[in-house]
Amino acid sequence: MNIPFSGGCACGSIRYQCAHAPLAMLNCHCLDCQRSSGAPFASGVVVKAADVDVSGTPKAYSVRASSGRLAMRSFCADCGTPLFTQGEANPQFMSIRFPSLDQPSQFRPMLDIWTCSAQPWVGLDPAIPHFPQSPQPDGPSP
Ligand SMILES: [Zn+2]
Ligand SMILES: [Zn+2]
Repeated sequence: MNIPFSGGCACGSIRYQCAHAPLAMLNCHCLDCQRSSGAPFASGVVVKAADVDVSGTPKAYSVRASSGRLAMRSFCADCGTPLFTQGEANPQFMSIRFPSLDQPSQFRPMLDIWTCSAQPWVGLDPAIPHFPQSPQPDGPSP
C-alpha cells in the first residue's frame, strides 16, 4: 500500500489520511459486521487512531460486538458510507473500511476472522488463515 494513504465517504463530506502503513488488513464475518456493512462481510484496514487525520464529522453509534465488547462505528451522516470502527478495549487502534480507500485495489486481506458466522456461500481464500472467532478477542473489528 502506498503511504500515506487516503480515502473518504461516497459524497465527499468526510475525508481522511493515514500517515503510516496498516498494522493489519482483514475480513470479518461476524453478524454485526454483516449488518453494519450491508454486505456478506466487512473488510478493514487496522491502523493506530493517532495516525489518522479526519476532516468532516462522522456520525457514530455503539454496538455490542461478537466479542462482547462495545464497538463504536462511524459513518457519513449524509451518504451513509461506513468508515471507522473503534473498540472500547483498545481505543488506540481503529479500523477503516476498505471500500472507502481512494485506492481500494491496494487492499490485501491477511486473514479472515469470525468465520463461524460466515455465510456458507462466501468463498474463503485458502491462501490466508481463517479464525472461527477473533485471534485477539480485544482486537479491532472491521
Ligand atoms: Zn458522505
Ligand atoms: Zn466483525
